[in-house]
Amino acid sequence: MRPLLQLEQLVKRYGGLLATDHVSLALAPGELHAVIGPNGAGKTTLIGQLAGEIRPDSGRTLFDGRDITGLPTAQRALLGLARSFQITSVFPEFTVLENVALAMQAHCGHSFRFWTPVLSQAELVEPAHSAIAQAGLAERSSARVAELAHGERRQLELAMVLVARPKLLLLDEPMAGMSRQESGLVVELLGRLKGQYTMLLVEHDMDAVFALADRVSVMVNGAIVASDKPEAIRGNELVRRAYLGDEELPA
Ligand code: ATP
Repeated sequence: MRPLLQLEQLVKRYGGLLATDHVSLALAPGELHAVIGPNGAGKTTLIGQLAGEIRPDSGRTLFDGRDITGLPTAQRALLGLARSFQITSVFPEFTVLENVALAMQAHCGHSFRFWTPVLSQAELVEPAHSAIAQAGLAERSSARVAELAHGERRQLELAMVLVARPKLLLLDEPMAGMSRQESGLVVELLGRLKGQYTMLLVEHDMDAVFALADRVSVMVNGAIVASDKPEAIRGNELVRRAYLGDEELPA
């Protein structure tokens, strides 16, 4: 099967530092692939290159068979490569449904009627309802965003990404700043989306990573030192050594 995402030898230098050191990676359609690594390993730099925010010095990114190395963020999003949990354009005084319908409108651009209220446009409201349900927030669709709990806010952000029907979700530390209970909820949510979307997850919460990932890649000093099934990663000596003094790998 052709990989949905293929990274070939991505290099990003900051002065003398190799933030990504010839990173190659392939994600099969439907796979949930986690990237882990100690602080400063290069995970954020890698995600930035995938989202189109950081230009690699060399190497290629192929998405759905197409070379997207030079494409900016907005064009990547139109092709179906979406970065989640980074939404800034949320309107706190509007409801969940209005926000998701507006996200759909923004995604579709000029083809929609901006002068008509979003809730009277079935072509926006129907996909919004289904994205809200996928994000597990159906019962809160008429709640004002300002009233949402922290975890529900993450669900809203996910719905706002899902409404555009992305092919690949870049999940950049979705559990950051969450309580155990809230991160458990996000694990459950992502577990439900597994198989429906291809996902690349960067996360420090090892319980979440090992509960969700089909495969795990480990970055150390910019390079991927291991890429395997979670069970094999857990037993990998190189990985254990990279993590000494950092996050504990679950036993
Ligand atoms: P963390 O888990 O702490 O978020 P990370 O794995 O995401 O870390 P990066 O933030 O990608 O790591 O950083 C990789 C290396 O590149 C680090 O040594 C960092 O100091 C360096 N770095 C990142 N961005 C820049 C920049 N804009 N200029 C210079 N150095 C940078």
